[in-house]
Amino acid sequence: MKYDYLIVGSGLFGAVFAQQAKKKGKKVLVIDKRPNIAGNVYTEKIEGINVHKYGAHIFHTNIKRVWDYVNEFAEFNRFTNSPVANYKGELFSLPFNMYTFNKMWGVVTPDEAKAKIEEQKKEITGEPENLEQQAISLVGRDIYEKLIKGYTEKQWGRDCSQLPAFIIKRLPVRFTFDNNYFNALYQGIPVGGYTKMVANMLDGIEVRLGVDYLENKAELDSLADKVLYTGAIDAYFGYELGNLEYRSVRFENELLDIENFQGNAAVNYTDRETPWTRIIEHKWFEFGKDENGNDLPKTVISREYSSEWKPGDEPYYPVNDKKNSELYQKYRKLADKEEKVIFGGRLGEYKYYDMDAVIDSALNCADKYL
Ligand code: UDP
Repeated sequence: MKYDYLIVGSGLFGAVFAQQAKKKGKKVLVIDKRPNIAGNVYTEKIEGINVHKYGAHIFHTNIKRVWDYVNEFAEFNRFTNSPVANYKGELFSLPFNMYTFNKMWGVVTPDEAKAKIEEQKKEITGEPENLEQQAISLVGRDIYEKLIKGYTEKQWGRDCSQLPAFIIKRLPVRFTFDNNYFNALYQGIPVGGYTKMVANMLDGIEVRLGVDYLENKAELDSLADKVLYTGAIDAYFGYELGNLEYRSVRFENELLDIENFQGNAAVNYTDRETPWTRIIEHKWFEFGKDENGNDLPKTVISREYSSEWKPGDEPYYPVNDKKNSELYQKYRKLADKEEKVIFGGRLGEYKYYDMDAVIDSALNCADKYL
């Protein structure tokens, strides 16, 4: 065997595992079917702007080990995510905080805001069983209707009453004037883009791009003792138990000859009528400056359209509802029988992982197997 590990996928899980394996003296080969490394955190420079080609990625974590780890490969800037919600032209602060409550109801104090929510959440009795009930019991019906319902139904293509409650628990609710979207100790964007960070992780490691593992499985398997697979678990098994559902995203990117389109990195369109879910203006991830600190004269925006995944599309989000979770468990049983193969990452584990959780999981996986 030429390699100890064949690593399928050069996204965060694959790159972290590869880096750890090399560090432990293992011989590794990383392959990826795309023409570029870095999976969905891939960034590409356009007019001096690092464009997040597969959707906005804002690094945030509470895990010190993960923060120290990523800082070995990149310097992080002080970007703090404070998205704005646009509901039919009315703007609201996110996540849900005193600025949001003030704009929604005219309330001024935390007690007044709490009283409004208490009054509105009375309609939910008992433990919330789905996203709709969870949202109303967290922030009341007004906010649910204007800032959650339309956005969520566009993003997931499903009624809020059919979605798991945990999705909305990702968002903080605060009775302070704090627009920081994340409750994380550490946050930032890697200076120079994520691609550079992943390239640093893969430094000195053999990488072959444009290689489709599943199409050349036997031949590629014969190159290594073990395989780390970070692609979709159902695709690995040829969808033999049926396909898991995913949400896909389509991006419409535009280079505009203006300096400032929306004044913020992310604006969410939370009404049902606007066909896109959000618009990202990439330059604001790096404060509108190039690497020398000069103001960038142009801007690149991406409109995000969510759609149900179908064969040939890129899978982005696993749909962790009951039906899919049960099917995943069946695939998991098959995966456990594949002695030579480790499954990892958002697609390999069919899990709505954030970047830091993916890295944590890859580091733990490396500790376990290497
Ligand atoms: N969400 C919402 N309104 C918003 C932003 C988010 O209702 O303006 C809900 C929605 O259900 C979404 C979930 O919060 O699926 C998680 O959003 P997040 O921005 O964390 O998703 P990601 O960045 O992973 O796409």
